Amino acid sequence: MSPTIAVLALQGAFIEHEQRLQSLGCAAIELRQAADLERSFDGVVLPGGESTVQAKLLHDLGMFEPLRQRIAEGLPALGTCAGLILLADHFRTLPVTVRRNAYGRQLGSFHAEGRWKEEQEVEKAREPADTTDDSGTRTALAPDPIPLTFIRAPRIEALGLDVEPLVTLSGTPVAVRHRKQIAAAFHPELDPDNRLYEMFLGLIA
Ligand code: GLN
Repeated sequence: MSPTIAVLALQGAFIEHEQRLQSLGCAAIELRQAADLERSFDGVVLPGGESTVQAKLLHDLGMFEPLRQRIAEGLPALGTCAGLILLADHFRTLPVTVRRNAYGRQLGSFHAEGRWKEEQEVEKAREPADTTDDSGTRTALAPDPIPLTFIRAPRIEALGLDVEPLVTLSGTPVAVRHRKQIAAAFHPELDPDNRLYEMFLGLIA
């Protein structure tokens, strides 16, 4: 059965996520009020936008704590840009340090090509026996570049326990995974590459 993905639709770039999820065979529903959280869904997408506005609306609408709890309990989540900031700074379910607008306001938006870490190598990194191996196997990169669109993007400055970088730009992680949470500083909904979505959908049991 195709998964149903809830997209937080209070503010920001949620339509593009819905369209992409539908193109990948998912049903997309919108989270606009607390009652929407009662519907049945298999994962959640937190879109880009303005994280402070989104957090305030979540609190005002009584959605903040129920959503935070679902994610903390293991609901697969994909956070992009402001969604990354929500996970890291507001819900605090994602142990990474982020700095808002850190790619420079003057830059505003820019496009770049990052490196995708081969899933298989990421899998290896998860095995405890491999944690002492710094031979470079773990950090092997797939040859495929991944297109990245940044819009007043947060910078991921430090990774906490059990956080794996998925995509890097000049050696800096710009997408990470922690258990069932995937978060990106860029906007995967604006480029044709589906790998981040596929990985997210792969987290759904
Ligand atoms: N600058 C925004 C924030 O701080 C994030 C930008 C985005 O989501 N494109 O929340």
